[in-house]
Amino acid sequence: MKIDLLNLKDGKTEYFEKLDAATLDIEGLEFVLKDFLDAHTTAEKRGNKVKISIETNFILIMRCSRCLEDYEESFVTDDSYFVKPGRDEEAEKYLTDEDVYAIFAPIDEIDTVPLIRDSLILSVPMKPLCREDCKGLCPVCGANLNRQSCHHNIGEGGSRWQKMLMDIKGKIEKG
Ligand SMILES: [Zn+2]
Ligand SMILES: [Zn+2]
Repeated sequence: MKIDLLNLKDGKTEYFEKLDAATLDIEGLEFVLKDFLDAHTTAEKRGNKVKISIETNFILIMRCSRCLEDYEESFVTDDSYFVKPGRDEEAEKYLTDEDVYAIFAPIDEIDTVPLIRDSLILSVPMKPLCREDCKGLCPVCGANLNRQSCHHNIGEGGSRWQKMLMDIKGKIEKG
């Protein structure tokens, strides 16, 4: 959604929108947006400054990095941006905290979609997990250990293989 900065009235203006994966340009990535992303944007104009706050909530379908099963997780984001419209802004001597997060916009309007897209992408975990204690797959037979156990019995503190290795190590040390 584009916010017209020039014709924005003083005070708060709120916008509600639903964005799909195509609009957000997140198709073909390693996660899928379920239904729509809900965005609640507040543009607050004071003098020549505009503060834009964007709250979103959405559900992603991701693949667990351990058991490789798809799962859903809901996310909430809340980000603020300070915009000073106009390209002829005089250089300011002192930067305030606000300026650190400022977008100096040499434009008359600002598009919220790329901002929302960035928030969404930053929410996606590097190594998605269906749950903290996901047991993953058996490295021998590939069984999903969250749903079934297999006779390879790896994990559970000390596997058959670990015991074998310890035995071999013991024999070597004894000479
Ligand atoms: Zn998992
Ligand atoms: Zn197995």
